[in-house]
Amino acid sequence: MTILDKEGRTTEFSIYKDQSTRWYLLGSLIAIEILMSVSFLGYIHIAPISVTFAYIPILVTGCLMGPGESTAVGAVFGLISMWKASATYVLPSDAVFSPVMSGAPVRSILLSVGTRALFGLLVGLLYYAVKKRRRPEVWLVLLTLCGRVLHSLLVYSALGLLFPELGYGPANTLNGLGSPINLAVSAGSAVVVLLCWRLSRSAIVRRFEQRMALVKRFQLMDTYHGWPLAVLLLVMFGFSCAVTVYFVWRIRYMFAQQQDLVLSDEAMYNLLLLQAQFLAGMIALTFLLVVFQVFNRRYTTYMNYEAKLDMLTGLYNRKHFFQMCSELLGSLSRRADEAAYGFFLMIDIDWFKQINDTFGHPEGDRVLRGVAGALRDVFSPVGVAGRLGGDEFAVFIYKPILRAELENKLERFAAAVEQIDRDGARRGTVSCSVGVLPVAQYRTMDEVYRAADRLLYQAKEQGRNRYIFGE
Ligand code: GH3
Ligand code: MG
Repeated sequence: MTILDKEGRTTEFSIYKDQSTRWYLLGSLIAIEILMSVSFLGYIHIAPISVTFAYIPILVTGCLMGPGESTAVGAVFGLISMWKASATYVLPSDAVFSPVMSGAPVRSILLSVGTRALFGLLVGLLYYAVKKRRRPEVWLVLLTLCGRVLHSLLVYSALGLLFPELGYGPANTLNGLGSPINLAVSAGSAVVVLLCWRLSRSAIVRRFEQRMALVKRFQLMDTYHGWPLAVLLLVMFGFSCAVTVYFVWRIRYMFAQQQDLVLSDEAMYNLLLLQAQFLAGMIALTFLLVVFQVFNRRYTTYMNYEAKLDMLTGLYNRKHFFQMCSELLGSLSRRADEAAYGFFLMIDIDWFKQINDTFGHPEGDRVLRGVAGALRDVFSPVGVAGRLGGDEFAVFIYKPILRAELENKLERFAAAVEQIDRDGARRGTVSCSVGVLPVAQYRTMDEVYRAADRLLYQAKEQGRNRYIFGE
């Protein structure tokens, strides 16, 4: 979608350019990777079959995001496999994945994390390359079908290279290559990747993106307070760790009481590892819920605002703006020494028809959005802005502000408006005329509107590109 920056320039906006959405998406994919890695969602263990499909989130990340992100998800997959291999009951061929069990920590880290990160990087690069081809979906499917083989090839090659004593090598990739279960997993991963790809490009998701982008761009939502949130998260994490350790000790206690079985330190260590995996799974699950909540909130915010906004500029529309102004007018506090305690500004762009006629309506729209952006930037800390229609805007300043301060803001606004055209270089500068009316509680909104309109008219009469203060 097209969205505006502060100077009023339009930029193409997509989910992949919105940093916060990007981080939430990456976080969610990592959370899914963790959930799959620590549960049956990512593995089938029915002796003698052991099949993993926990690599699928890496493929999805590579397809939807990019090589950097899929490398990160790959590294997470590797870290968890390292963690799982650190239990003392695992098979020797699995123990080499753990730096504490193998006796060769660097090689183990290279094997478990290095190969998976490399896998992420490679698939990310390959997806990036094929997405630009003529029939991307066919390529995406083909590439995904090869994903499992590539993963096995990397892991077996690394095993052969780093731990040759185990007797594994690239040739082991062929083991069970055509087995029904492996074929089914490969086909399943292709379906998942294709569905995610289609979904990410669907009209529903695009519309959703646009709405979320509006919420961000127009700053409709209060932001979270960083520090309190960080402290809260830290405290919650501390509690979760306490619960994890407590459970391990309770299990030992239970065995001692009921089974007369004293768990060894080794068993306790393994239990703690398992319990920590459970904790990781719960944190991942919580994160997914938080992401859902964040977007749910953004969406609700959007829906609440939709009816009140002018969709071109993101300012309040005429109807809602006047409603708000009437309420604000009633709530203005009247001080004994000063009758006026607010300002109503009427703003109209100078020679706007010429801009439309010379450069076309889309260019005119761009200028309208630029002016709206300048109004928002300059006046939103002390008041509300609305678009009354056409090239006419208004601002109600309801926070206490000195006249000198307001003049300063008006100068800043004029300077910002002048900037709108800078990089177009082919146009004359844009300017606005402004009528500034001090307002007090005892005037009706209708009176205020008429009086401010007269001041605006005077500003136009006197040559435009200026503001006129009323009494
Ligand atoms: P003045 O300095 O006297 O204000 O001259 P002006 O040319 O700006 O005159 P006026 O304010 O009456 O012009 C308003 C114009 O705005 C008329 C209309 O064609 C145009 N307009 C109204 N709505 C839109 C819109 O949504 N987009 C664009 N591009 N133009 C609009
Ligand atoms: Mg005008």
